[in-house]
Amino acid sequence: MNRAEIQAWLREEAPARLEDLWRRAEAARRRHVGDEVHLRGLIEISNFCVRECLYCGLRASNCALARYRMTAGEILAAARQAVAFGYGTVVLQSGEDYGIETAWMSGIVRRLKALAPLAVTLSLGERPEADLAAWREAGADRYLLRFETSNRALYDRIHPPLAGRPSDRAAILRRLRELGYEIGGGIMIGIPGQTYDDLADDVEMFRTLDLDMIGVGPFLPHPATPLGCADAGCAPPGEQAPNTELMTYKVVALAQLVCPGANIPSTTALATLNRAEGRELGLQRGANVVMPNLTPLEYRAKYEIYPAKACLYETPGDCDACLKRRIAALGRGVGVGPGASRRAGAAPRVFTRG
Ligand code: SAM
Ligand code: SF4
Repeated sequence: MNRAEIQAWLREEAPARLEDLWRRAEAARRRHVGDEVHLRGLIEISNFCVRECLYCGLRASNCALARYRMTAGEILAAARQAVAFGYGTVVLQSGEDYGIETAWMSGIVRRLKALAPLAVTLSLGERPEADLAAWREAGADRYLLRFETSNRALYDRIHPPLAGRPSDRAAILRRLRELGYEIGGGIMIGIPGQTYDDLADDVEMFRTLDLDMIGVGPFLPHPATPLGCADAGCAPPGEQAPNTELMTYKVVALAQLVCPGANIPSTTALATLNRAEGRELGLQRGANVVMPNLTPLEYRAKYEIYPAKACLYETPGDCDACLKRRIAALGRGVGVGPGASRRAGAAPRVFTRG
């Protein structure tokens, strides 16, 4: 798919024409990753963050947010639930929290790998290379780091760097691949100031980075952040990319077409826009992964990256049962095992006990 086609699909509004995009994305999804839907158990291990991203409720200066960091015992207990539910992957996500010490995290990864043949995915922000290398050495398999937008000026505006450390998420993703991780990138859709052309660049960036996992979701304004305010600004008339459900489906479908074999989640942000069937529609337009939430209920509401998140108070058991029921209703099966990347050129991997 060339750039002109990507641009045309992003502007397409006719339901009948879009059916063609969904059909093509689904054919690619079926051919490259099959009908199975993989469940990745999400554990939101800390909401401390040193950063000041203009879009995110976890930003350091949000004093209204009560902070937490899960203990090793709590993380292990959540991972045991993942194993009991039959998940092949756990995803440990947090703010950029240097209270998560390198050696402590390495120990957690080792204990998770000793628990079962689980894939361990980390999403802990822009940690120094020595940390990323240590965690890979400990057995971590995958790393998620969305580049958010490929428009450098927009990125710099919404994602201030730490003092003396320029932020280049694409470079970090490339380094993560060299370290042997499967790499996941992605974007927010409809950031104030993000244009249709920016989105086309983003889709091309998925292809250039040759991602193993692609996470895309609508930008959802948080009132306690600068981008959540009414005067957050936007691109010139007719150019601003909308933060809608439909635009998210288009980018999911295009991601599947430009990165065949990548694992693509139907995200909670999408389910937040359409609680009744957002997840299902994502899975019917190119996605093949969902991420049931295993975070203990006492912490859930505190991981407030945006407000009114879907499924906020569902217990892990309810979340598991609900997602499995929805997958079955689509006539799809639940994936068994870690569900490794099937991107052409991905090294065959063995997810053993550590
Ligand atoms: N701190 C890590 C990082 O930034 O990569 C991982 C956690 S961060 C909360 C995970 C993702 O949440 C970000 O990459 C961003 O795309 C998404 N996010 C943050 N604020 C958001 C918002 N207001 N609306 C939609 N997605 C948001
Ligand atoms: Fe921190 Fe990630 Fe939120 Fe930025 S997006 S403030 S790094 S948690």
